[in-house]
Amino acid sequence: MRAFVVTAPHTAHIQEVAAPVAKAGQVVVKIARVGICGTDVEFFNGSMPYLHDGQAKYPIRIGHEFTGTVVRLGPGVDQSWMGKRVVGDVMMGCGKCSRCTEGRQHTCQDRFEIGIRNGFDGALAEEMSIETRFLLELPNEIDETLGALVEPGANAWRVANAAMAAPGKRILIFGTGTIGLMSAQFCMAMGAEVHLIGVDPKQFPLALEVGAKSVNTDVQPIAGGYHVVVDCTFDPSIPAKAVESVEPGGRVVLIGVDDHAANINSRLLVFRDITVVGILSASPGLQNSIDYIKAGKVDLGMLVGATVGLDQAIDIFNGKRPAGAGVGPKILVDPAR
Ligand SMILES: [Zn+2]
Ligand SMILES: [Zn+2]
Repeated sequence: MRAFVVTAPHTAHIQEVAAPVAKAGQVVVKIARVGICGTDVEFFNGSMPYLHDGQAKYPIRIGHEFTGTVVRLGPGVDQSWMGKRVVGDVMMGCGKCSRCTEGRQHTCQDRFEIGIRNGFDGALAEEMSIETRFLLELPNEIDETLGALVEPGANAWRVANAAMAAPGKRILIFGTGTIGLMSAQFCMAMGAEVHLIGVDPKQFPLALEVGAKSVNTDVQPIAGGYHVVVDCTFDPSIPAKAVESVEPGGRVVLIGVDDHAANINSRLLVFRDITVVGILSASPGLQNSIDYIKAGKVDLGMLVGATVGLDQAIDIFNGKRPAGAGVGPKILVDPAR
């Protein structure tokens, strides 16, 4: 089968590789769609922090925002899995340690992350293998396109949940990329008012179409201030800005990661009674994301700019938008094309 392999910074190929084998407890999923995300781009350009601390190394088969159909079963797997349409948890804990048994498997020391950590082959390929305990069934109401958005959507659900988004809450989000816009959608679905900050004015019309009350290139003061400020960027100067911009007694939610650690003023956190929440991964939000998408409470599909084949994926990583692409920041890959 064909797979997208990154062999060195800015170097990737579509390679013919051995078809995956379903080991005990695993199935093979035929990939229908896989989204390209900021983490994938960081692996391509070499800036991904895991490449520098030993949690990942080249060559790497990337891709983790997937949906597909179960086509082969490993030993011990129930027959009912055959033919199921699924999405998966990217974070795959050992299942035995206290973090795993206490429901924090996404923080397991020994976890694999699909297409990211400890050499687990990713979904930017025709097929991938995965243990059934990390799969969720996709309801028929959710098509392939939306299925590939469940995982980033779950990250955004977790942002909105950590922000305690609700009617009467004013939330400021830094970042108008996929996670920024999806986080805005989930915060609004929970009843909050959302203001966005972006660097690229070309993305502002889409931010307004999503339903943001305002979108600007820098923080604008508003009556009553912001109850919550969220960082969905790769910019290390934003966490400190978020702490400075939030109302006393408010919350700061951090999901963006830069290759440089950001400094924040701890005294401000104390004197202004600010709660800071970090979000790693979609894991605890996957079912919520499915439920919101299925119920039509969020319209994540409007963020998809284009769907391309595996061969064209390399162009995407080289920064070329496909001809005829829409304004949406998210690009999906259909390996069958
Ligand atoms: Zn991702
Ligand atoms: Zn564990």
